[in-house]
Amino acid sequence: MSGRGRQGQPGTDLYPMLSVEEATEQLLAYFQTLEPETVPLLESLGRVLAEDVYADVDIPPLSNTAMDGYALRAADTAGASGAAPVALHIVADLAAGYVSEVLVVPGTAIRIMTGAPIPEGADAVLPFEDAERNGKVVRIVRPVQLKANVRDAGEDVHKGELVLHRGRRIRPQDVGMLATVGRKQVQVTRRPRVAILATGDEVVEVDAPLGPGKIRNSNSYSNAAQVLATGGVPVLLGIAHDQVEDLTAKIRQGLAQKVDLFLTSGGVSVGDFDVVKQVLAAEGEMTFWRVRMKPGKPLAFGRIGGVPLLGLPGNPVSAMVSFELFARAAILKMLGQRNGERPSVEAALVDGMKSKDGRRHFVRVRVEEKDGAYQARLTGDQGSGRLSTMVEANGLAIIPEEWSSAPPGSKVRVMMLEGDL
Ligand code: AMP
Ligand code: MG
Repeated sequence: MSGRGRQGQPGTDLYPMLSVEEATEQLLAYFQTLEPETVPLLESLGRVLAEDVYADVDIPPLSNTAMDGYALRAADTAGASGAAPVALHIVADLAAGYVSEVLVVPGTAIRIMTGAPIPEGADAVLPFEDAERNGKVVRIVRPVQLKANVRDAGEDVHKGELVLHRGRRIRPQDVGMLATVGRKQVQVTRRPRVAILATGDEVVEVDAPLGPGKIRNSNSYSNAAQVLATGGVPVLLGIAHDQVEDLTAKIRQGLAQKVDLFLTSGGVSVGDFDVVKQVLAAEGEMTFWRVRMKPGKPLAFGRIGGVPLLGLPGNPVSAMVSFELFARAAILKMLGQRNGERPSVEAALVDGMKSKDGRRHFVRVRVEEKDGAYQARLTGDQGSGRLSTMVEANGLAIIPEEWSSAPPGSKVRVMMLEGDL
């Protein structure tokens, strides 16, 4: 028996169980950042910027007023008081969008609206509400500070400054900045295409009759939604039977659709009909199998037809958690996204966890703030078939593999799952 288990499957001895870090490192070595493409400005929202963007002008381009008021010379108002008011002559009105042809000389002021360029000679703006007007004269009873209510040219961004770094996931404010620097078109990374194939004779399509012994295909949809949320394009390939021929045919069909990553779910365990590993080994190569984590131990990774294939476990929670750790990292790498890690918080585990087995546990929890600290409550029994525990969860508490138990109150890191949709 040269490492072959029953049914000719690759045996466990050939594939040492990897830590999460080892598996991640081995897997990521197979991915590169994809090529850029050009999209219209608004379509860049949620995409990953593939270029460094610089300001083409000063922003604001001209020094302008932050208030509706009187543009004046601050020095004119020195010593102004109720007893000794200063009177300035209003020599012009200026709306936003126009440059004044009239100068502000000593003893004069120009009425000016928010956003209008500061007229030459003026160096401060006194808001209307702080002044008293009498026909063509404005009366000032307090000194006005130099630069009061003046927004300097370039105070937001200087011409030539790097405003958006490549690798950033574009948010609404970034779209605004792109507009400000005159970008109608933006270079973003192409979205990776991710094939998704469910396996299992018991698995039926969502709208098919649910015959005896059957369950609905939830994995393809939760995984496809994760692909979308991460920025990829899911390519749904349906369900393969637990049979080498059918699985091989469906994988080949998927490969014909030019995908960057292939995901399967189910069929990677040690059951009699777990054929994904077999097909992967026969048609391509398997790099690793099994990771020291729970849920999600039976994870297979390799390449087939030159495309990286991640064989996710079949249990609905395992499929999602394994996606979260491995497929998400691969997609982010293909997108060239920087700082894509999930935010995490430290929280006190309200419920204790039983003794463990040397695997890192990813525990579905609901994190809430209480008295200025975070508390993490289990969302239910941690059976990996219970999708409802994911539905209730807003985070995955990470119980390190070295811990033999996690008594109530233990401080744990929680990877927060919210925020990308
Ligand atoms: P497997 O990894 O193939 O042994 O599957 C483990 C468990 O996950 C079994 O109870 C399967 O019925 C279930 N399962 C497998 N594939 C899916 C799927 N696509 N949707 C929902 N449950 C699934
Ligand atoms: Mg199965």
